[in-house]
Amino acid sequence: MSDHAYQQCINPDCQATFAIDEVHIQCPTCDALLDIKYDWNRLPRPMWEIFEHRWMTKGEQNHGRLDFSGVWRFRELLPFYKNHDQIVSIGEGRTNLQDARRLAPVIGLKPGNLHLQYEGLNPTGSFKDNGMTAAFTHAKMVGADKVACASTGNTSASLAMFADMSGMTGIVFIGSGKIAYGKLSQALDYGARTLQISGDFDACLKRVRELTTQAPQLGVYLMNSVNPFRLEGQKSIMYRILEARNWVAPDWIIVPGGNLGNCSAFGKAFMELKELQLIDRIPRLAVIQAKGANPLYTLYTERGIRWNAGHWDKDAKDTLYNEYDRDNTKAKTIASAIEIGRPVNLPKALRALDFMNGVVRQVDDETILEHKALVGRYGFGCEPASAASVAGARLLLEEGIISPDDDVVCILTGHQLKDPDATVKYHTGIDVKSIQTEAPRTEPTGKLANPPIPVANDLAEIITALGGDPAQIQVLQQ
Ligand SMILES: *Cc1c(COP(=O)(O)O)cnc(C)c1O
Ligand SMILES: [Zn+2]
Repeated sequence: MSDHAYQQCINPDCQATFAIDEVHIQCPTCDALLDIKYDWNRLPRPMWEIFEHRWMTKGEQNHGRLDFSGVWRFRELLPFYKNHDQIVSIGEGRTNLQDARRLAPVIGLKPGNLHLQYEGLNPTGSFKDNGMTAAFTHAKMVGADKVACASTGNTSASLAMFADMSGMTGIVFIGSGKIAYGKLSQALDYGARTLQISGDFDACLKRVRELTTQAPQLGVYLMNSVNPFRLEGQKSIMYRILEARNWVAPDWIIVPGGNLGNCSAFGKAFMELKELQLIDRIPRLAVIQAKGANPLYTLYTERGIRWNAGHWDKDAKDTLYNEYDRDNTKAKTIASAIEIGRPVNLPKALRALDFMNGVVRQVDDETILEHKALVGRYGFGCEPASAASVAGARLLLEEGIISPDDDVVCILTGHQLKDPDATVKYHTGIDVKSIQTEAPRTEPTGKLANPPIPVANDLAEIITALGGDPAQIQVLQQ
């Protein structure tokens, strides 16, 4: 199969291609992001009827395990694997689209016109499982046995479970004081080696990237969403929404934006569905950021930066990041899952916004928490970051950009139980502290205790903590 799939640099002036079973974090020639591309003409044609049939038969066919998965049910739309045995699946993506009839009028939509896509119903409680199943499949294809990520929480929870289930070693980087307990508890319970460095998400991501490039002797495979295979799996969120709507696209898809992998994946999903003539109308995309972590909002909405056929204004991005450095601005929001200042998928997000005629808005923490409470009151609940989508829907309705008659789907990215501290504080005023290095603690005594390992924010120390030899660090040419 995968002779018909390859990797390609998204920079239109480069477009270098690479075999599907090579491992790159970014284009080795120009440093741009990579896409997974398919030669659709030489592949079995994806058809809605096939997917629907798999759903209804619940996997009685030969490929029951794959048909059960809400990602691999759509495997003809992400055919990068060589054979079915390589697919790592834990039954992800069985999520549902709820008609939020009681919530709709509260935010200004007609009942029946607001649907909530509950990705918190995934095995580890967030949409990240959709992407991990695909990236682990690639990791297995290339024979990786150690996988790592930096995380605001949900990526590490998902990585830890998939690593555990597939017999790989999971390594997770968390910053200090920056992770919701629900998420940390998962990484520890699933046995990931959890390194806690003093720094924020952006610092963690920088270190884990260094680990994969400068300490190749450790053989660590990178699982952050800069990995294009993750986005392949996340496309399936769009397929499931379409399936639930009898393959009719809504007017709007609204999603919170952090590292911008999800919105990028949605854009790619629709670009391919259009190319395959499986859909004739493209929904509009709204990406909602937290006010305290709003680089895309600043660049796209305030400064007018556009994809521009791939020739987007990189200087504008550098200027913004230099301003952050100069003013010591760090991402800060109660919605910890989107507390990211330098999103790696920025170019792909611009591309998605271009293709889906998108808008970007920001909402403050108080508004996020109010809308989280609304989703709880009228639905199944969600974690703070997820509620940014509903808050954004209301804002766009108030602005008149969304009309009360429009069909709107908000992506609820994570489960209500992920961040109980935020919920308890909202409802009671009691401030339960999230993990703090300085908080008092006693030594854990359980036989399987797997406490986070505090490590200095330093590559040599990190390599030592992972059992490597820091003398072998490779110095990169700039
Ligand atoms: C990861 C995450 C996000 C942000 O998604 P990106 O793809 O990084 O933009 C939003 N909400 C939740 C709950 C998440 O776990
Ligand atoms: Zn390139």
